[in-house]
Amino acid sequence: MDFIDLKSQYAALRDNINARIQAVLDHGQYILGPEVKEMEAALNAYTGARHCISVASGTEALLICLMALDLQPGDEVITSPFTFAATAEMIVLAGGVPVFVDIEPDTANIDATLIEAAITARTKAIMPVSLYGQVADMDAINAIAGQHGLTVIEDAAQSFGASYKGKKSCNLSTFGCTSFFPSKPLGCYGDGGAIFTNDDQLAQACREIRTHGQSQRYLHTRIGVGGRMDTLQCAVVLGKLDRFEWEVSRRLALGEAYRAKLHAAIPGLQLLAVRDDRDCVWAQYTVFVDDREAVQGKLKAAGIPTAVHYPRPLHHQPAYARYGRPEDCPNSIDTARRVLSLPMSADLTDAQQDQVVGALAQALG
Ligand SMILES: *Cc1c(COP(=O)(O)O)cnc(C)c1O
Repeated sequence: MDFIDLKSQYAALRDNINARIQAVLDHGQYILGPEVKEMEAALNAYTGARHCISVASGTEALLICLMALDLQPGDEVITSPFTFAATAEMIVLAGGVPVFVDIEPDTANIDATLIEAAITARTKAIMPVSLYGQVADMDAINAIAGQHGLTVIEDAAQSFGASYKGKKSCNLSTFGCTSFFPSKPLGCYGDGGAIFTNDDQLAQACREIRTHGQSQRYLHTRIGVGGRMDTLQCAVVLGKLDRFEWEVSRRLALGEAYRAKLHAAIPGLQLLAVRDDRDCVWAQYTVFVDDREAVQGKLKAAGIPTAVHYPRPLHHQPAYARYGRPEDCPNSIDTARRVLSLPMSADLTDAQQDQVVGALAQALG
């Protein structure tokens, strides 16, 4: 069993994806070719956002919109310490200071009720992470940001396709940043990502930063990066879009089935809470266990691959320890000790899921 089954997905979409790739090889416009705009338009239609700027990766998406905000040294960006390192990494790289605010113990997303206390005169932005494919409490976060004149950047690397109060992730705040890393809910066959915004000026800034700060060819009006997503990768995303709606509904159904089956087989097991006003596209299907290493070992012996997202909160990582005290964010510390991700992808079969649930029940005795 694969942890994330990309082979079955390719088998189902093979003709579509091959034809899309072949078309790029035939026209030869490998950088900013027609598929780039076509994909951006398709993703605008999907998310409802006015602008989509495709970029080299999810990491680059975060960097480019932070660069568009023109952070000054010492400017602070509030985020969660329980995330992939890229979130805080890009804040530092853009010249800012990450300020870690603890998570809710049941959803593992930033606790919006703790944000206000972390705001200072230097705060410029809030960067909530839609962890595992579930959006944080964006209405509350946007309201706080509005009161304090802050920008909200959703790190939606794991949540493309997710919904919050009837709107799509990536179109819930000033910026939404997603990733097309192969294992994400919408993946390409290499690195890729996108920025979404409804702000015309910020969109223009991001477009310029994406291509070395050029407002026209060889006119460099700002500092930028080489941050484009290449045409071949956009073609792969386009090749996958035809089935994406089905994949999202299958992910939601598998999440619900995991919940029901795990609840029946292992009554005491703590599962991730999903709030009533949103869904979770389960970039990872993550549960909470004690004695994680032993459980992982037993699952491995039973042929079930697992992973840990993430084993340490960022303020316990050597590179980020200076941005907090060890005892800060206790929910993040406890969660990092207990999370365990199970096999998940749209092509996971019901029989495979039963096998995972059975093996986990055995492993937990
Ligand atoms: C994957 C991920 C990123 C980075 O995306 P890449 O495309 O790999 O650069 C950033 N933040 C989170 C939460 C992620 O899961």
